[in-house]
Order: sequence, then structure tokens, then C-alpha cells
Amino acid sequence: MIAYVGIGANLGDARANVADALARLATLAGSRLLAQSSAWRTAPIDSSGDDYINAVACIDTTLGAQDLLAALQAIELAHGRERPYRNAPRTLDLDILLYNDERIDSAALQVPHPRMLERAFVLAPLLEIAPSIDVPGHGPARGYLAGVAGQAIERLN
Ligand code: ATP
Ligand code: CA
Ligand code: CA
Repeated sequence: MIAYVGIGANLGDARANVADALARLATLAGSRLLAQSSAWRTAPIDSSGDDYINAVACIDTTLGAQDLLAALQAIELAHGRERPYRNAPRTLDLDILLYNDERIDSAALQVPHPRMLERAFVLAPLLEIAPSIDVPGHGPARGYLAGVAGQAIERLN
């Protein structure tokens, strides 16, 4: 299965946390890292604190979507992720953006990630590694870039 994972951090050494998340994804059980975006920097939107560092990874995995979510949450926990309130600053956030061309709508997991097309910090790194990607139910992701043009975002490397 091909999955796209959104990575974000804005607490502690955010760049190091994102780099470590990529390293952990590369060694995830039953998985292979196929592509990783650059690191991108954005000012917080519905959140507070320091700037965010974001990236997107593409993995080939034998994990089912629920097991992949559990594995991502274990990586977040290893970084001391806490959830004191909604959109709180975080050491590390890992979201499943896409899982094959599946649409999943369970209590714990919605795929495609329901807010991904409204977020420059998802779209920019996603399109960097997958310029022609389709989002099930929504068509080409690149068609949503104009809608987030007002969100300042900077590619770091
Ligand atoms: P947002 O979802 O708007 O990006 P967030 O990432 O800050 O917000 P979290 O507190 O990290 O939200 O996650 C809340 C819950 O979202 C998780 O416990 C998880 O069960 C659920 N969830 C639903 N769909 C997904 C998904 N595609 N990827 C990751 N978590 C998801
Ligand atoms: Ca998120
Ligand atoms: Ca999350």
C-alpha cells in the first residue's frame, strides 16, 4: 500500500523532530520510505507558538491503515506528544493524508485527511513529491493550490 504521511512540529527543535520522524518512517516495520519532501516553514494558523516545520513522506507499507495510524502515534509518543487542547503546539504530529486510493471514515481515522486540501503546509510538500497526485473524491491535489495561495510558506532545503 502507498501512503502519504504529513509531518509537522513547532515545539522544541522542530526541524530535528521532523528529520527524526522521517528516519523512523524509513525503518518502520513492513514499510519502505519511497520519497520525502523538503522541510517547509509556515507561521501557525489556528494554532499558537513558534513557526511550524512541515514535510510529507511517501511510504510503501504492508500495514493496514489502522495499524499505520497506531505506528505513527507511537512515533509521536516517543517525541513526548501531548494534547492539552485542540491545535496546541506540538513536538510532532503525524497524519495519514492518503492511503492508496481508499476513503476511510471511522471514528478514529478519516482518509483522505479531511483538512488536507485547505492547508498550504500539506499541499506544498505533497505536490513537491507527487505533482500529479489525485485525492479520492476531489481530483488532482494541484487544483487546490490556488485556494491556499494566501498562506505564506517557505521551502527550507
Ligand atoms: P488535524 O486533524 O486538524 O490536523 P491534529 O493533527 O492536531 O488536527 P490530533 O490531536 O493529532 O489532531 O489527532 C486527533 C485524532 O485524529 C487522532 O486521535 C486520530 O484518531 C484522528 N484522526 C482521524 N483521521 C486521521 C488521519 N487521517 N491521520 C491521523 N489522525 C487521524
Ligand atoms: Ca495534523
Ligand atoms: Ca494528528
